[in-house]
Formats: sequence, structure tokens, C-alpha cells
Amino acid sequence: MSRTPLIVGNWKMFKTIAETTDFCRGLKEETTGLDEKQVGVAVAPPFTALSAAAQALRGSLISVAAQDVFWAETGAYTGEVSPKMLADAGCRFAIIGHSERRQYFHETDDSVNKKAAALIKEGLIPILCLGETLADRQGGSTFAVVERETREGLKGLSVRDPGKLVVAYEPVWAIGTGQTATPNQAQEVQAFIRKLVAEILSPPMAQGVRILYGGSVKPENIVELMTMNDVDGALVGGASLDVKSFSRIVSGSISR
Ligand code: PEP
Repeated sequence: MSRTPLIVGNWKMFKTIAETTDFCRGLKEETTGLDEKQVGVAVAPPFTALSAAAQALRGSLISVAAQDVFWAETGAYTGEVSPKMLADAGCRFAIIGHSERRQYFHETDDSVNKKAAALIKEGLIPILCLGETLADRQGGSTFAVVERETREGLKGLSVRDPGKLVVAYEPVWAIGTGQTATPNQAQEVQAFIRKLVAEILSPPMAQGVRILYGGSVKPENIVELMTMNDVDGALVGGASLDVKSFSRIVSGSISR
């Protein structure tokens, strides 16, 4: 089954509203001529710039993603943002469970699961991030960690359309380090994740769900990564901050 590649730029805590608008205009120009049957593209600016991104990208194939969300609909949760608020700001996707949130903000598998369920209920697409640390890999527990994060993250989700869920395998040791996983390392874990999705959700979900690789993806390595059967695109951090390099990653992903 062929899955349309998806490239998502995670900007982390970078770019003001003006910088976001500039970037989005530039990316729109660079991607003119591409259509959504070839590739899906999304950018994830900080919360403050989501609306500006949505406005600047109107009429293009590029979607907007949030970098996090809270699961409640409304309430006394100072500092939090609900799925409905993200939809209102023009988001289609939300990244959840990113390793930086797990590491610095005490995100747990349970909170990630609640966020996924709340997003799906609102019609937004979760990009569920998971992956092992260097210590996990060196200690031989990569598959155990990935299995736990996949099972806990997807537990009880009511989703039947594979287009409504994205999983991102992001080995923590590869994020922001310049040390990309080899295509075979990514493939091995991502094939394992797909098998788990078949068990946890359903075989059709597993067949159609897009599993992205994330961790030091650059224009120079995207083509090779995309040759792998279970690599359906990329979640890109550092290299997504520059229009030219992000556009080269987008075009490189189509070569598959
Ligand atoms: C990320 O933050 O999700 C990421 C993959 O970062 P980088 O591409 O910079 O490693």
C-alpha cells in the first residue's frame, strides 16, 4: 500500500509572528506546483504564531501543527490550550509526547494518551512521538521502550481512519545531535511499531498510518531514509527553520 509522505517541521521555541509569516510565504512559494497526492507538509510554530501561520498558508498544501495540547475542553488550567482552541487557530495536527516535553515537562505515557484521545475527539490529528534514549539503546531495551510508549500512547483510541493518526519514531539520541539513525535502524523500529499498531488498533490502521522518522533529518539524508518501506516521512527540528533546507527535505521525500 502506498502512503503519501508527510514532512512536518517542529520549530520548537523559535520564530516570532513576523518571522513565521515570512517563512510561510517563502515556503508557499517554494512548494508551488506540488499537490497533496505527492506529499503532505506541515509546520509547527509556537502557540503565539499558529494563527499567523494558518493565515499565511491559506490556499496552500501546507498545514499547521501545534507542538502540544492539553486534553480538557475548557477549565481552570492556567497556561494550557485545548484541542478546540488549536482548531480555532487553524491547526490540523498537534505534536504530542515529544521527548523534550517528556524530559523537561514531565510528560508521561498516560498524559500523552489523554492528549491523543482529546485531539481525535476534536477532529485534529495527533503526531505521537516516541523513541528510546541512548541509555535504552545501549542497554538493549530499545524495543521494550518503544513497545511501552506505543501501547500506552495508543491505548483505547477510537480511530478507524489511518489518515487521522501519525506516529513519529524519534530516537532521543538522534534529536538535535547531528547523529541520524541509519535507514536500517529507523526501518527496523518503524516496522516493529507498525506491527504493534496492527495489534493495538487494527491491521487496516497499521497499513495506512504514517510513521515518520525524526532525529537530525537534513536535505542530505532524507532521500536515503525514504527508501525504507516503513519510513513515511519525517519530523524535522533544526533543518525546518530555514525555508530552503525544509523545502529540499520536502522535495527529497517525494523521490520514493
Ligand atoms: C525534533 O525536534 O523533533 C527533531 C527531530 O529535531 P532535529 O531534527 O533537530 O534532530
